[in-house]
Amino acid sequence: MTGRIFEIREFTLHDGPGVRTTVFLKGCPLRCAWCHNPEGQSFEMETMVGRGGEPRPCGEDWTGEALAEELARNSDIMGQSGGGVTFSGGEPLAQAAFVADVADRLHARSVSCALETSGFAPEADYRMVVSRMDFVYQDIKHHDADAFRRWCGGDLRVVLRNLAWLRGSGVRYAVRVPCIPGVNDTESDRAAILRLVGPGVAVEFLPYNPAAPAKYPMLGRTFPLGEMTERPRQRLQAEKCS
Ligand code: SF4
Repeated sequence: MTGRIFEIREFTLHDGPGVRTTVFLKGCPLRCAWCHNPEGQSFEMETMVGRGGEPRPCGEDWTGEALAEELARNSDIMGQSGGGVTFSGGEPLAQAAFVADVADRLHARSVSCALETSGFAPEADYRMVVSRMDFVYQDIKHHDADAFRRWCGGDLRVVLRNLAWLRGSGVRYAVRVPCIPGVNDTESDRAAILRLVGPGVAVEFLPYNPAAPAKYPMLGRTFPLGEMTERPRQRLQAEKCS
C-alpha cells in the first residue's frame, strides 16, 4: 500500500506528548481560509517556487513499510521522552487505510502514534484510525454550522458526530481551536466552543499563525484572508473545561 506525504519533521515538541516525528499527509477535503499548510490541501503532486525561483517538489509517495521504517528512526529518543510519531497534514484521515497501515507497523516497532485531525472524515475511516492511536488532537474550527461551511467548506455535523464517538472511545485526546480574528475569536465564540466540547476535556486555543500567507505565492495562489496578516498575533491560551 502506498500513500502520499509532503513533509517529515523530526524532533517536534508541540504535536503530542514528548519528542515526536511528525509526518504530513497530502490532501484535505476542507479549504480553511486561514490554512497555513496550503501545500497539504491538494492530493496532487505540486511544485512550490521559492523567492529565488528555485522549484521545490511537494508530494512524495511512500510504501507503508518504508515510511514506518523512516519514521521509527529516532524511536529510542522518542520513546525515552514519552513521544512518538504524529500523523498530520493536510487531513491524514483522507488516506485512512494508509495511515492505519503505517500506525500498525509503528506499533509493531513499539512506537507510539498520535493524530492531528479536523475530524471531517467518514465515520468508518475516523473510527478505524482513531482506535489505533495513543493520542488525538481533534480540531474544532467553529461552533456554527453556517460559519464552518463558509470558512472551511465542510459540514459541521460530520465533525460533531466523530467528536461524540471520540468522547466515548477511551482514546486520550485534546481539542484544539485555531483562533482566527474575525472568524471565531470572540468571547462568545470561545464559550460556544467550550459548550460544544463538553466538560472535562483539555481545550487549547491556538493563536493565528501570521506566517500562514507566506506559502500561497509559492504555489501561485493568493491567501484567502490576506487582510488579516496585519492583525496582532493572538496569545496562546490553554484551558481546561470545568
Ligand atoms: S483542515 Fe487543516 S489542512 Fe485542511 S484546509 Fe483546514 S487547516 Fe488546511
